[in-house]
Amino acid sequence: MDLYKVLEVSKKASQDEIRRSYRRLARKYHPDANPGDQQAENRFKEIQHAYEVLSRPEKRREYDEGPRTFFGSGGQPGGADFGDFSDLLGGFGNLGDVFGRSTATTQRSPAKGENITVNVRLSFEDALNGVTTRVGVPVEEACGECGGTGAAPGTSPRACPDCGGRGVQSRDQGFFALSTPCSRCGGEGIIIERPCSVCSGKGRVRKTRQVKVRIPAGARDKMKVRIPGRGNAGTKGGPAGDLYVVTRVEEHPVFRRRGDDFVVRVPVSIVEAALGARIEVPRPGGGTVKVKLPAGTQDGKQLKVRGAGAPKARSDGGEKGDLIVRVGVVVPRKLKRREREILEALAEERDEDVREDLFKKVGSS
Ligand SMILES: [Zn+2]
Ligand SMILES: [Zn+2]
Repeated sequence: MDLYKVLEVSKKASQDEIRRSYRRLARKYHPDANPGDQQAENRFKEIQHAYEVLSRPEKRREYDEGPRTFFGSGGQPGGADFGDFSDLLGGFGNLGDVFGRSTATTQRSPAKGENITVNVRLSFEDALNGVTTRVGVPVEEACGECGGTGAAPGTSPRACPDCGGRGVQSRDQGFFALSTPCSRCGGEGIIIERPCSVCSGKGRVRKTRQVKVRIPAGARDKMKVRIPGRGNAGTKGGPAGDLYVVTRVEEHPVFRRRGDDFVVRVPVSIVEAALGARIEVPRPGGGTVKVKLPAGTQDGKQLKVRGAGAPKARSDGGEKGDLIVRVGVVVPRKLKRREREILEALAEERDEDVREDLFKKVGSS
């Protein structure tokens, strides 16, 4: 197959000529313009393939040098994708939906209902332990009065007489027909003569539905829980959309969440920090846990209590994060007389310069 012949151009054709010829031929043979015509479809695939090669200077050069390499590997004529036909019409001004395809078919076939997102407020404890709660969800449900048809009880929607139920009106324009959405039925293909009084013909009504939601233990703030099929009702028999429940977890005055871990800032005295101690720290979800503070613990040091954090999301084995204890050394604001004497004695005893390192660094810079 000669790709130049496919595109009906000479071997010396400019890129511009190739492009123009391609657009002309693609319009003519596009499957949308020739429904059910297998020959046209095959021709279209050839045209697409030829254009893919010849429109790229590098590929075109390769093809000119040895066309054999061009079929077989990757460059097979016609993938499944025909490209967007409307792209080809760019130069034609705004013809819109030329074949009435999306208007005529997407609106008339069953459509999935919209997804809905609602927030659920959770206490710190509920998020930690998991909870089953109810949320009010504003949904559009099929109208009970008309059964979702939108037509008053006792009547039913009927095919639009103007377009014969097709939803589009066609006019012949040379080799392809121009279709526009039917103005009478708005492209729906059906008309409702007596609209249902409850839903005004929409077939759906707004309601607040109470939906039970299971929040897993260890839920984080802004976590999304998906509940399939609990969104808006579908239209024309389509499935309902999904419900997304987004958790909003109240902040705890003491525990900060960090991934599956919790961080708690725990004050320790200078004596505990210097001598070391076993201290009790609060645990998320209640109770306390003992932590060993090594002698010489510095301010800001973090100690890890394994498994005292939040249950890990998607872990069935009850795996948990950690509790991170961040030490805050507290210096007494006031000293008793005896304490003052001890510290003064300490000051005499210790001949230390805690800022030595600081000045060393300044000097070396
Ligand atoms: Zn109704
Ligand atoms: Zn119509």
